[in-house]
Amino acid sequence: MTSSVSYEKELTRQLAALRRYLMNERKMSVSDWKEIRRAYKFAKEAHAGVTRKSGEPYIMHPMAVARIVAEEMGLFRDSIIAAFLHDVVEDTDYTLEDISREFNVRVSEIVDGLTKMSKLSFEDKTISTQAENFRRILLTISEDIRVILVKIADRLHNMRTLEFQKDHKQLKIASETLFLYAPLAHRLGLYNIKSELEDLSLKYSQPAIYQEISSRLDKTKEEANDYIEMVKRTVSELVTTTALSFKIKSRFKSIYSIHKKISEKGVSFEEIFDLYAIRIILETRDGHEFEDCWKVYAAISAVYYPNPTRTRIWLSTPKESGYQALHMTVIGPEGKWVEIQIRTERMDDLAEKGPSAHWRYKKMIEESASSEGNDTIEHDYDVLLADWVDQIRTILENPELSALEAVQEVRRSIRPEDMQVFTPKGQIIRLPTDATVIDFAYYVHTKVGQHAIGAKVNGRVVSLDYILQTGDQCEVLTSTKQQPKEEWLKFVKTTRAKNMIKEVLRQQRREYIVKGKEIFIWYAKRHKVTENSEMVKEFIKYLSLDGLEDLYYNLGRRNLEISKIQEFNQLRSEGKLYPQEKTTPLDTELLVLGKNITIEKYESATCCNPVPGDDIIAFHKGTKAIIHRTSCEKAINMMATHGDQIVKVRFTDKDSLSYLTALKIEGLDRQGILIDILQIISRVMHINMRKVTIDTKDGLFQGLFLVYLKNKDELDRLTTRLKSLDNVTSVMRTDSKFQPFEEE
Ligand code: MN
Repeated sequence: MTSSVSYEKELTRQLAALRRYLMNERKMSVSDWKEIRRAYKFAKEAHAGVTRKSGEPYIMHPMAVARIVAEEMGLFRDSIIAAFLHDVVEDTDYTLEDISREFNVRVSEIVDGLTKMSKLSFEDKTISTQAENFRRILLTISEDIRVILVKIADRLHNMRTLEFQKDHKQLKIASETLFLYAPLAHRLGLYNIKSELEDLSLKYSQPAIYQEISSRLDKTKEEANDYIEMVKRTVSELVTTTALSFKIKSRFKSIYSIHKKISEKGVSFEEIFDLYAIRIILETRDGHEFEDCWKVYAAISAVYYPNPTRTRIWLSTPKESGYQALHMTVIGPEGKWVEIQIRTERMDDLAEKGPSAHWRYKKMIEESASSEGNDTIEHDYDVLLADWVDQIRTILENPELSALEAVQEVRRSIRPEDMQVFTPKGQIIRLPTDATVIDFAYYVHTKVGQHAIGAKVNGRVVSLDYILQTGDQCEVLTSTKQQPKEEWLKFVKTTRAKNMIKEVLRQQRREYIVKGKEIFIWYAKRHKVTENSEMVKEFIKYLSLDGLEDLYYNLGRRNLEISKIQEFNQLRSEGKLYPQEKTTPLDTELLVLGKNITIEKYESATCCNPVPGDDIIAFHKGTKAIIHRTSCEKAINMMATHGDQIVKVRFTDKDSLSYLTALKIEGLDRQGILIDILQIISRVMHINMRKVTIDTKDGLFQGLFLVYLKNKDELDRLTTRLKSLDNVTSVMRTDSKFQPFEEE
């Protein structure tokens, strides 16, 4: 049992440590320090008599948060004061007005944001209210970034003392931390804090895994110690030749990132070769930072060969989080791979303290008259940060997104693993790591996105869903005929591009609806029906359409001919309509034979329950198809009455699976060439086809043929046959998104 006297002693000790840090290392003015001390006393008095779950007096918590804010985040007076006061309004009788009067408006605004957030994050009941809470938490970011910084510090201390919480609370707090606070810390460039938050989350959410990795890591640290010391010595000698002043350290991968690598890449602990890295921190020389980093790189490469594919350059173009460094991986002593990170003191400070370090250096640069020739501020961090905050606000305020979707979008945007792709002129475009050509196109310009048909990446033609890599040079190919397509939404990754595509599709849909309505009205007048008539309602239900608007849309898009209503009406009045069939969804891949229609969903009729191997037939209704066995009574009747809705389908035969293969065939155009090609594919070789797109230009033709092939042998035979045709110059496999003459 700890007595109150010893808590007093502890608090005095902590306050003295904070004072020492601020006054000595940060050169804080005495008057600022006095304000901070006053905040401490105010909070201590306000929380007097209250204890935490650990049994400590409550004030120990704000003290810890204030020290994190000051010492680990490097923030300034008002944030430190706000950290001391962050729970006062929430937990005591003091109001915001009291704080604003006692301290200043800025402090009270930060405390206000924090109070709103703490009210939110502990009352969740369902996923959606939880998501709504996250949404509001994120909205506070756009008010004042310091609110979220103090909140992260608060969360860090709560995680450090999580052992005192009940089990279910531990899990909830840990998962919230992993979901939101760790990514935020990462995005803000607080790397140490991010790693600690992740490790602590893992410790409570998956204790067995955490213990396992942690003990193996400890063992490795012991075993690798001599080797690391030796590398440090030899690398030190090399760096010394540059005559620069430096410090050398080593760091191990965090437990969480090891866990992530093992589970995502499917490797074992022993297979992780970058378990540790050597870090060289150079004394900052204004105007020579990048040059100095490269000098060190060259000095090390002179002896240890770097793997060029693993060199990471974040100098003139930092990561989105502001991170700057030069990383190299070399074959070190004994032929082992070693990662070496080269940074200046300033870059190191940025990597540890994030925003506050950026603000501090910016101020220093602005204050120093000799900022000329300085190569460190090409990318204004505040501008980047403001862009990001803007982006978050746009997502959160989008009325089309549910709270959950909005939070997921924001999480996407805070993932700092981004890449840089170059335009043909060498301009850099930043994109998330899994971005595709279409994302890139929309970032270049809306019009480029809307009309994109493909791209040349490093000189090679690729389709719109091609996933870009960092360093790629990408030239978007456009065609004025091109229009945004629904299928783009399946692979587009960035919110910006997604929203723009959706907007155009919405417009298109509106146009189709108007057109479809005109068609309907024309029909309705002649047949004396109204849009509200029972027959029309039944028709909509019969086709499983989503209401009247959907009917218009399908009519306008020509997915559905108006004559179908008349046929339906006829069958209905003759009593030949079949009742809605009972069906179950079907996962199996089916081959559609003959007809060129799009079927998005297959359902299996429960009257005959077809299974793979059966001969089957499908009736399509809109984009849905219902499968019956060909022997089914009902199906036989339906074939008679609904002949035009029949689609011939076949279960993919398990023994002779067919693979969809895209062939690009080109040559000199002549009459009948298409027929000749089709003859060979279907008549001679009996190969099923899914789609054919062909185009001619200046006497040449190019075509895309999507065919189902059983194996390579069949492909070779087909290729040989096709090549033997007059005027066919080449037959090759291509991407299924290929469009004829897309290079133009
Ligand atoms: Mn707190």
